[in-house]
Amino acid sequence: MGDKVEKEIKGHLEVLVGEIGPRATGSSNNFKAIEYIENELVGTGFSVARQEFDCINWTPGKARLIIQGKEVLVRGADYTLPCKIEGKITCIENLRQLEEGNLDGEIAFLWGEIASEPLMPKNFPFWNPPEHKKIISLLEEKRPKGVLFSSCSEESLVPLIEDGDFSIPCGVVPPGEESFILEKKGKVAQLEIEATRSPAWGANLIARTEGSLPKIALTAHLDTKPFTPGALDNAVGIATLLTLGKLLMSKKPGVQVELVALNGEDYFSNPGEVIYFKENLLQTGKYRFGINVDGIGYKEGETGVSFFEFPSDLKDKIRAVKKGFPDIVEINPWPQGDHMLFVLKGIPALALTSTEVFGILNKIIHTSEDGIDLIDFKKVSSVVAFLFGLISKL
Ligand SMILES: [Zn+2]
Repeated sequence: MGDKVEKEIKGHLEVLVGEIGPRATGSSNNFKAIEYIENELVGTGFSVARQEFDCINWTPGKARLIIQGKEVLVRGADYTLPCKIEGKITCIENLRQLEEGNLDGEIAFLWGEIASEPLMPKNFPFWNPPEHKKIISLLEEKRPKGVLFSSCSEESLVPLIEDGDFSIPCGVVPPGEESFILEKKGKVAQLEIEATRSPAWGANLIARTEGSLPKIALTAHLDTKPFTPGALDNAVGIATLLTLGKLLMSKKPGVQVELVALNGEDYFSNPGEVIYFKENLLQTGKYRFGINVDGIGYKEGETGVSFFEFPSDLKDKIRAVKKGFPDIVEINPWPQGDHMLFVLKGIPALALTSTEVFGILNKIIHTSEDGIDLIDFKKVSSVVAFLFGLISKL
């Protein structure tokens, strides 16, 4: 594929990451990204439709907790309501304590066992374990004025709750501050979190060539978490989609392809994914397979590809094409990401990412560190060539 493709991929990243930056669903930057991608696709000759949905635009501000005159470092959880409250600190370590505790008017601090893994947002449609729902509903029933939680990770700040539908202001406490709060249980504290939630909208972009119904869907999400420029996650996926789209248009393959820029993979309730699933995958339902690109091109490691629900003849065909690309290796399936939309409907899905991204999740990915300098454009160009080769041979 060579230099021209690499240059084109880089150009898209410079706009999405360098000029636009964080692209949280519902934010003004997200609209800028929608417009950029839409213009690029239309310019290439696709007919493009917006698939719109309602969401919120959440903006963060400062947060502080003061206990007996001492300020403790906290951060408002993404999508939290704002607050300026005073209440007694009540520490909750497990479900039994939550069930038995009286939290009315207090500031609940969840730590230890009960705060060990992030809870699914209460209206998350695809997967939502009853244990998670139980914790959320108990908190909402017991009406503490605010909820704080220790980070779910020792290495980075991972909030227990990130949910724009959760009705109690909440914030996350860095690992180093946990013991101080535990010492102060029963004491009165002041918690102030600045944030706004305002009604907004967002859209997926669906690009098709004219003609019959699409057989192959190629997806990449365009949104980011609120604070990250999102180069690996996932400007690089959008750049792949746009660059591949242009190649496909110039060579006119024999198969109908639908390019989908999804909007909501990193937003709490996945609104773009939900509407695409309902309106396209459930209804049209004639897809041969889906391809999802997210987090490819990391400078460390290789490109990983994984097969979900493929019949063996089609899998063999794809593996034969992959042989020409030794820098793309087969890895074990992983159950998070937009490829699962296809899997849920029983449509075969091919998922592409970098073999080393799993280790940098929440350390680099989802943080301000996720910049263009992490990307090896040769690797991205190789994925474009692989997908182009694959689609051309169908
Ligand atoms: Zn992603």
